[in-house]
Amino acid sequence: MKTLAQIAAELAGYDPRALHADSVNVFLAELVEPVTQVESVGIFEALGRVLASDIISPISVPPHDNSAMDGFAFDGAQLSSQASAQAPLVLKVVGTALAGKAWSGRIKPGECVKIMTGAILPAGLDTVVPQELVAVRAEPVEARTEFITIPPNLMQAGDNRRELGEDLMQGQPALQKGELLTPAALGLIASLGIDEVQVWRQLRVAYFSTGDEILSLGEAAREGAVFDSNRYTVFGLLKRLGCEVIDLSVVRDDPALLEAAFVRAALAADAIITSGGVSVGEADYTKAMMKKLGDVAFWKIAMRPGRPLAVGRILKDKLASSPYSESANSYQTNSSLDSSEAAVLFGLPGNPVAVMVTFLAFVRPALLKMMGCTAGAAPLLKARSAEVIRKKPGRTEYQRGIVSSTPDGRLQVKTIGNQGSGVLSSMVHANGLIVLHHGQGNVAASDEVDVMMFDGVI
Ligand code: AMP
Ligand code: MG
Repeated sequence: MKTLAQIAAELAGYDPRALHADSVNVFLAELVEPVTQVESVGIFEALGRVLASDIISPISVPPHDNSAMDGFAFDGAQLSSQASAQAPLVLKVVGTALAGKAWSGRIKPGECVKIMTGAILPAGLDTVVPQELVAVRAEPVEARTEFITIPPNLMQAGDNRRELGEDLMQGQPALQKGELLTPAALGLIASLGIDEVQVWRQLRVAYFSTGDEILSLGEAAREGAVFDSNRYTVFGLLKRLGCEVIDLSVVRDDPALLEAAFVRAALAADAIITSGGVSVGEADYTKAMMKKLGDVAFWKIAMRPGRPLAVGRILKDKLASSPYSESANSYQTNSSLDSSEAAVLFGLPGNPVAVMVTFLAFVRPALLKMMGCTAGAAPLLKARSAEVIRKKPGRTEYQRGIVSSTPDGRLQVKTIGNQGSGVLSSMVHANGLIVLHHGQGNVAASDEVDVMMFDGVI
């Protein structure tokens, strides 16, 4: 396991007092490891979980060559003689193949089979002419026999054939280890006849809010105090991500209470998220306790909102001397954590919007890696800015915005009212964050900007 100092030493331009937002992600990707424990779950419980092994298709989908159209199936080899003669191809209809009811007769040259979409192509037939492209005529002497006429230069051998295994081939991976199971993935798994899958065990994340001015819901109001909102946004963000949550409430700025909370969190969880008390220059006990119990870096990030951030690890040997860790043998067994590591720590700022932005920008990708998920963050969208946005190069800014589509079908984004880092209402009304990158300067009206959409995330 690399120490924080070792990870930092590998980062070009590492400056804890003005850290580049992109460097934070690089650092965190080095800091965290995926869980290693696997469990088996039924398909209904698998939604939102991460696959721990490839799903190898036990069957081919479709299981047979079949018709993509309603029409007539025939041997496409006959088209070449037709092409050289520039003559129509006339075929006798000798049977009917329906979806779910195959035609199993034998066919001779000059014959075809009437076929419906999805029906198995009879042996020896590889081409389907759609019914609307042929002339059908009943032979007067044999009133019940039909003939079709296919005009020259209309068809090629193999047209309108869906091939066996073109969706999934037996023995090939249908889904891969590390994929997050979506509704579409559940359907695909079911289409293979599979009702149970191997997933990584859920990540356990403990969280608490810190600060003497923070009121729990139900507590009597006091002057200068605010209700705890971070606990609820963090809860929601973690739930949406598919983590198991361990709520440790609000913790006063008191060394004994903080120590007890960190020990409980480290015992119960793979990762700990706190909010508040990490501002640089803030002389409170939260930072002191993080230092006492772990290996933690305190950063000022070149970003807005959300400058202060603490990240690191709570360490078992440091916990061992705590009076609260009498049950130190009962750590969560997460075999991916190093044997000396009790939990990964993310100390977020206190401001409610800064909490959400730092979670989305940094914590979420790190937790996804810990969950065993291999897909990167969703791509940023490009939208045209509806207005001038003032921006200084040298820091990353995340502005709350509303993305809409213009009458010409393009995406447009408009910043939303008050961008203050404590103003949650604008977070609620926004549908995405405009990401103004580190080196970027002012944005002119109708310039393209990057947007991180909220859909399904918050
Ligand atoms: P801090 O980072 O602790 O200095 O907090 C910055 C600001 O965020 C202060 O105005 C706090 O009152 C506010 N704040 C901190 N924690 C919370 C919380 N859990 N819920 C709502 N506001 C908070
Ligand atoms: Mg504080």
